[in-house]
Order: sequence, then structure tokens, then C-alpha cells
Amino acid sequence: MPVPHLLLDIDGVLIPFPTPDGSTPPTHLRHAVLPTGRNPDDPVPVWLNPAHGPMLTRFLADALVAPVWCTSWRKDATTIIGPLLGLPGFPYLDLPRPQITTSHPNGYLWKRDHVEPWLGESPVAWIDDDFTPLDHTWAAERTARGHPTLLIQPDPHHGLQPDHLAEVREWASHQTSPTVGISPRRAAAAEK
Ligand SMILES: [Mg+2]
Repeated sequence: MPVPHLLLDIDGVLIPFPTPDGSTPPTHLRHAVLPTGRNPDDPVPVWLNPAHGPMLTRFLADALVAPVWCTSWRKDATTIIGPLLGLPGFPYLDLPRPQITTSHPNGYLWKRDHVEPWLGESPVAWIDDDFTPLDHTWAAERTARGHPTLLIQPDPHHGLQPDHLAEVREWASHQTSPTVGISPRRAAAAEK
């Protein structure tokens, strides 16, 4: 089994959505950034948790998953958000810019139409705040077909938590273990 991909969203995962009263978690620091194509006089405020950089870096160092940005920040994930958090460089999915007014134009997350062909048969853990029940059904069916698929859905007002990465770690350790699929006795023998 190849090393699973880890698809990582930004908005609602690393950048929490403000609550209706405009507040953001006290853990997050405000930055003003200039996404590609943005007027330099009109920077965008974002809130990032400085603890997320070391937390993700430590997690990725174990190489249980191969990270890929999957976000409407596209390349700016690698040039703006990742560096602000001190993350190691990793690739991004070059998602299109569909003219849609909802992130679920067909009842499921719009990114999926682009993620699915890109994935092929690869195992994947996907962290995004915006899945619908149809996405969870898709993940269960994909897993049942032998292509392990884990969806992690943070609360967009709180974003990524250590428990989310612990869940990915637990899942990924089962995907790549050389002892998967053999009996406990043989597994014990293999460890000697
Ligand atoms: Mg999002």
C-alpha cells in the first residue's frame, strides 16, 4: 500500500471562521496577506495559530502520510500560508476556479470532482471543514472498494485540533503497517 496522501484545507482548518460576533480563537494571531492577484492596497486579514506549524511539522516528520494542499488558496498555500506557519514545503492541488455560489453545487464538496481523478486508487486522509453527508458516503464506499479514505472535518470556528492529527496518525499507521493482514502470531514473529 503506498503512503496515503494527506489533503489539507486552509479556510476553516488553519484559518478559523469568525463567530457571528466577529471573534476568533485567542490562540490565533492576525496577519495581513496579499493573495495572488490582490491589489497591494487591499490585503486580506487571516488568523493563524502559531502552534499549528510545529504541530504539523512534527506530525509530517514521521512520513506516515504525504501532504498536499487542497484549498482555494491554491499556490498561495505554499507561498503565503505555509511559510507563515513555518511549515516544510509540500505540493498543492491546482484546483480550478469554478463560478459557484456555494461550496456544494451538487450536494457535495466541489473540490471532490477534481480530487477524485487525481487520487486514482490512492489511500487518502482528507482534512476539510466543508464535507456533506454525500462526501462521507463517498468515503465509505471508496474504502469499501479497497481504497482507504478518511475524512476529518474540523469545526470551522475552531479549526485543526491535535485530536484530528491523532486520528490521522492512528488511521495511517494501519494503512502502511507491514503487518496488516497477517495473523498476530506472524506479526509478532515479524517484529523479532
Ligand atoms: Mg474550508
